[in-house]
Amino acid sequence: MPAGESFEFQAEISQLLSLIINTVYSNKEIFLRELVSNASDALDKIRYQSLADPSVLDTCKDLRVDIIPDKEAKTLTLRDTGIGMTKADLVNNLGTIARSGTKQFMEALSAGADVSMIGQFGVGFYSAYLVADRVTVISKNNDDEQYIWESSAGGTFTVAQDTEGEQLGRGTKIILHLKEEQMDYLNESRIKEVIKKHSEFISYPIYLHVVKETETEVPDEDEEEVKEEDEEKKPKVEEVDDEEEEKKAKKTKKVKESKIEEEELNKTKPIWTRNPQDITQEEYASFYKSLSNDWEDHLAVKHFSVEGQLEFRAILFVPKRAPFDLFETKKTKNNIKLYVRRVFITDDATDLIPEWLSFVKGVVDSEDLPLNLSRETLQQNKIMKVIRKNLVKKTLELFNEIAEDREQFDKFYTAFSKNIKLGVHEDAQNRPALAKLLRFNSTKSGDELTSLTDYITRMPEHQKNMYYITGESLKAVQKSPFLDSLKEKNFEVLFLVDPIDEYAFTQLKEFEGKKLVDITKDFDLEETDEEKKKREEEEKEYEGLAKALKNVLGDKVEKVVVSYKLIGSPCAIRTGQFGWSANMERIMKAQALRDTSMSSYMSSKKTFEISPRSPIIKELKKKVEEDGEENKTVKSITQLLYETSLLVSGFTIDEPVQFAERIHKLVSLGLNIDEDVETSDEQAADAAPVAEAGESAMEEVD
Ligand code: ADP
Ligand code: MG
Repeated sequence: MPAGESFEFQAEISQLLSLIINTVYSNKEIFLRELVSNASDALDKIRYQSLADPSVLDTCKDLRVDIIPDKEAKTLTLRDTGIGMTKADLVNNLGTIARSGTKQFMEALSAGADVSMIGQFGVGFYSAYLVADRVTVISKNNDDEQYIWESSAGGTFTVAQDTEGEQLGRGTKIILHLKEEQMDYLNESRIKEVIKKHSEFISYPIYLHVVKETETEVPDEDEEEVKEEDEEKKPKVEEVDDEEEEKKAKKTKKVKESKIEEEELNKTKPIWTRNPQDITQEEYASFYKSLSNDWEDHLAVKHFSVEGQLEFRAILFVPKRAPFDLFETKKTKNNIKLYVRRVFITDDATDLIPEWLSFVKGVVDSEDLPLNLSRETLQQNKIMKVIRKNLVKKTLELFNEIAEDREQFDKFYTAFSKNIKLGVHEDAQNRPALAKLLRFNSTKSGDELTSLTDYITRMPEHQKNMYYITGESLKAVQKSPFLDSLKEKNFEVLFLVDPIDEYAFTQLKEFEGKKLVDITKDFDLEETDEEKKKREEEEKEYEGLAKALKNVLGDKVEKVVVSYKLIGSPCAIRTGQFGWSANMERIMKAQALRDTSMSSYMSSKKTFEISPRSPIIKELKKKVEEDGEENKTVKSITQLLYETSLLVSGFTIDEPVQFAERIHKLVSLGLNIDEDVETSDEQAADAAPVAEAGESAMEEVD
């Protein structure tokens, strides 16, 4: 190794390396999968570049991977003719710039995750140190000279220009100096086994260099020499004839010759071009793993072709789990690889599949797209639009197939319900179909989840709308006072407790012709003639109280109404149909960087509802009628009722300290403490009736 510049590994990478180098993990073979996968990525990149500018291939036309074991040197070398790395790439990609996955992978490991997951976290290269204690990377990119990177881990690596070594033309050569106990990876059969298992579906040829010993018959050198000496003595003219004779007389001997042969390891034709009937589940699983870096099998697969005006083949996979960074980055990763007539084009065609389906992995091979597509033209391409539409349609079919198996669907829904909801929010066209996949807890579902379709089967005849409640958690909504009247009518209410639920439902609006109604907002509940009559009577009776309370609360509420939708609870705060719900207000407040201009007009218009059936409200009515709304106790009680209603309805209290003070007064009353009484002499006042004490105590806080 020529002396070069020395660099320190970024701290987390350094940590990761020592973890890898010291692991007792036995399934080390995955290093080969990771390095081959990187080679394949690098080949993809140069091929993609060459579509726009064929001259980039001048430095080397052949696109391939070579695996070269060397038993004497105890090295295993992988060489690709991919895009290669510049000096800066070597420094950045192999050591100084940490990926978000570095830390997450270590955390996953300490939580019991498997080392073979490494590829999913974007740090697969470092798996080389599972089997090697020193790694040399020689790389040549078209934009730079050839450089050599080397490290034995231990916190540092070096990079130097490589003028003396074999010049690569273009690409990367990775030399693994194998650990003493890892020599097995120099054996032809072991390498073949691992490649077959993990890298069968790589779309560039992988050649294994094997040493072939052959026995050939060669002229016996000793004999020749003697003859040659004789020859010299002979006159030149006779040469021709003599030679003929000599051949007959020549003695031969057997010589062992070792010759290096290149054996192609992955000759299978692309799996998507084959007939689905001939492909086993194991083959799909193996293809899925090579495509996705996943260590587990897929959950479901759809392999299909589209013919007619437009022709393409595709295989789509649904994974078992959501990736660790599903919604983490703004730049959503596309997981569909685009091929044109078997040639890989890009895995960055963002228009191929909508964002909410970003977890679907697979390949698409088009017969119609031009080969020399640029990213820009790809985006406007009409064919792409048609492909996209078909992919969405087929994935929906796939989801419905998954839904036929309860257990499978549970797994699917646990991992990807957010995506389905995002789909409901974003995809107007497929909204009704996606809504069928939604599942929620409800007042009637028990511990299970229910679909909207099942909800409908349970609706009593006179129920017209479908009801739901939004809130922070199941616990928060399960006992909400808003549920009372619906329960009384035997109307089921869905619990929407995922922040994204409310976004989805505001777009969905209805399901199979039935209106979806948020019961924390203002709505008309189905009522019988009798109920209507009773309501109108109550409204009249309590009109005065409502007015008085509105005067006390002032601008804090939009209006005070007599409610027929509350039963046991004295009161609640409902929001208008078109503003935010309490839950949405909470969600929006939690978004630190949100645009605050929205909140002024979207923020919830609060209606204070009072229930004429509640004893508290009945008593309050009497008190207001007797003492008037200016009475301090009336004011205090109203205030307290308002604040507790905020809490049960999912809002926060603007002035928690004053609220607490009011509660403390009540606590004092409960404990018979009169806070004004300071000396023991005056404790006789305790004998006073509680109601009176209550009044004086409550009056002090408002
Ligand atoms: P990932 O493949 O997920 O990006 P890796 O740790 O496997 O993560 O590789 C890190 C980076 O190093 C790659 O993104 C690539 O830029 C670079 N790299 C690794 N191997 C090669 C190679 N054979 N040719 C070119 N670049 C490579
Ligand atoms: Mg990789």
